[in-house]
Parts: sequence; C-alpha cells; structure tokens
Amino acid sequence: MRALRSLLLAAADSPWLQRFVQKYGFRLGAARFVAGETLDDAVPVLRRLNESGLLTNTTLLGEGVRDEAETRAVVAAYREVLDRIHADGLRTNVALKLTHLGLTIDEELARRNVVELVEHAANRGNFVRIDMEESRHVDATLRIYRALREAGHENVGTVLQSYLFRSEDDLAGLLPLAPNLRIVKGAYLEPPEIAYPRKADVDAAYAGLMETSLAGEGFTAIATHDETLIEHTIAFAREHGISKERFQFQMLYGVRPRLQLDLVRRGFDVLVATPYGPEWYRYLMRRLAERPANLLFLLRNLVRG
Ligand SMILES: Cc1cc2nc3c(=O)[nH]c(=O)nc-3n(C[C@H](O)[C@H](O)[C@H](O)COP(=O)(O)OP(=O)(O)OC[C@H]3O[C@@H](n4cnc5c(N)ncnc54)[C@H](O)[C@@H]3O)c2cc1C
Repeated sequence: MRALRSLLLAAADSPWLQRFVQKYGFRLGAARFVAGETLDDAVPVLRRLNESGLLTNTTLLGEGVRDEAETRAVVAAYREVLDRIHADGLRTNVALKLTHLGLTIDEELARRNVVELVEHAANRGNFVRIDMEESRHVDATLRIYRALREAGHENVGTVLQSYLFRSEDDLAGLLPLAPNLRIVKGAYLEPPEIAYPRKADVDAAYAGLMETSLAGEGFTAIATHDETLIEHTIAFAREHGISKERFQFQMLYGVRPRLQLDLVRRGFDVLVATPYGPEWYRYLMRRLAERPANLLFLLRNLVRG
C-alpha cells in the first residue's frame, strides 16, 4: 500500500499522465472530489451542502505558479469568489495555497497577494485559510501567517501536518498567537528524515497536536475522516470542558459524506472542503494516494464510460 501511495504521489508530478487524465476529465471520476471546473459550477454545490447543515470552504485549484502575472489572475479570481460568497449569502470561506499566489517565485510576492485577499475577505466578514504544502514551504508559510497575525489580521488561519516531526514545535511557537489552526495528517511524499513513515505514528502525533491545540486559546479545525481521532476529539473536549465553539470538524467533498451529516446531527460544526477549477489533476492524485481503493472507483467509471 505504501509503495502504491508513493507511486500515486509521484504521478501527481507527471505531465504525461496529467495530459491523459485531464483529457478523460470528469468522466474518470474527478467529479466525486471536485465541485466542477468553474465558480458557477461550484456555487450550487456549496449551496446544497450549506442547506444540509454543513459549512463549506472553497479553493480554486492550482499550485506551483511560476509567473507573476498568473498570480495576479489568481488573486482576481479569489476576489471574485469572496464577492460571490458574500452576494449569495453562502456559509463558505476560502482555503488557498501560497504557491498558487507566487511563493515559488518570491515570498514577498506571495505575502502581498495573500494580504490583499485577507483584507478583501475581512471587508466581507469572511475568513481565509492558508493550506500547508510540501515541507520545503513550511517555514515561509508560517512566516507569512505570523506576519499577518502580527499586522492585526484576525480572519486568517493556517495548517499543521502531523506527519512532520517539526509540527509539535511549530504548534508550541504559534500558541501564544491564539491561532486558528487546521490539523491534518499530511498529503505529500516526505522523506523519513523529517516525517513519520508509519501511519500509527502519524495518528499518535495527530492526537497529540489536537489535544495541545484544543487546550490552548485558539480555534482548532480537526480535519480528518478518521473516526477514532474524531471520537477522541469529542471525548477530550467533553472531559476538559472545551466548548463546541472552539473547534470544528473538517472533511473533504466526496469523502465520508454520511459521517459528515452524522456529526452535524450530533450538534458539531462540520466544514466540507469543496474545491473547483480546471487544474484538478494533482488534487485528484493526492485523493487517490490517500485511499488507493479510490483507483478502483475511477477505473470502474472509465469502463462504464
Ligand atoms: C479539510 C481538509 C483539509 C486538508 N488540508 C490539507 C493541507 O492543507 N495540507 C495537507 O498536507 N493535507 C491536507 N489535507 C489532507 C490530509 O493531510 C490527509 O491526507 C487526508 O485527510 C487523509 O487523511 P485522514 O486524516 O482522513 O486519515 P486516514 O487515516 O488517511 O483516513 C481515515 C479514513 O478516511 C477515509 N478516507 C481518507 N481519505 C480518503 C479519500 N481520499 N477517499 C476516500 N476515503 C478516504 C478512509 O475510510 C480511511 O480509512 C486536508 C484534509 C482535509 C479533510
């Protein structure tokens, strides 16, 4: 399974496979995980999720942009997303990647771009989450997050990945800011020098981060489909008198939808991360790597046509 996971994550960077998969597009099953290729496709999906009691975020898919002008187009697209959310009264915020905003070109460019979007979101009473990408971007991402908070921006959060050894120290460093943190296991291929290779260790580290974050002053987004960790969170919050306003569960669009609604019925906030956009290939490959059984689902769709 680990070899297959590594293969799928390596395939995320294959231009040849990307061309092939994108050609067969949504028919192959990307539609299970992605709300469409345009904002107009995504809005009814977001609305339907909201109507069933779920909070949502949305992401214009894309990453690793290498051209400054392209980052400006991404900023313009996100401004439109925030305007549309506001106009349509959706219970949706935005999650974005700094490499989509130019982090691989210049950290200062990415910082300026994200500041603009965080300010635009604040003017519309909204919130921006900065996703966490490959380990080589963690320092810059946390620097930018910290700079935003120190400049007085409250409507911004980021992410820590439990597979990285460093995350425990990163969390300790962020806690004085009363941060809004999403905790995830981690979706990229990382070497064993810096990340736990064994799932049991990743899960144990997740529980540790979740408890420390909940015991702190900020807000914690428990982003996992792992029922053991979800029940662990609920039990920990109950035992320590942590109110439901201080945390929420987050899951991905298309993954464990019944569990999402069960948690809503139990009175918890659940946010469904619901991305859209034509650049869905890498996102899809990461979803396959998380659960290689998804490959069968995809291949069945291919055979059925
Ligand atoms: C809202 C959200 C935001 C995220 N943001 C980031 C981020 O910024 N950076 C980052 O590195 N990672 C991010 N991730 C991905 C995360 O790191 C994991 O790769 C992903 O959540 C799978 O791990 P898990 O916690 O669900 O646990 P796992 O132990 O992998 O899965 C638990 C169970 O959930 C189900 N499941 C999990 N994944 C899938 C899937 N793809 N398809 C079908 N079933 C599945 C299976 O039943 C599995 O047994 C995010 C995840 C979520 C939910």
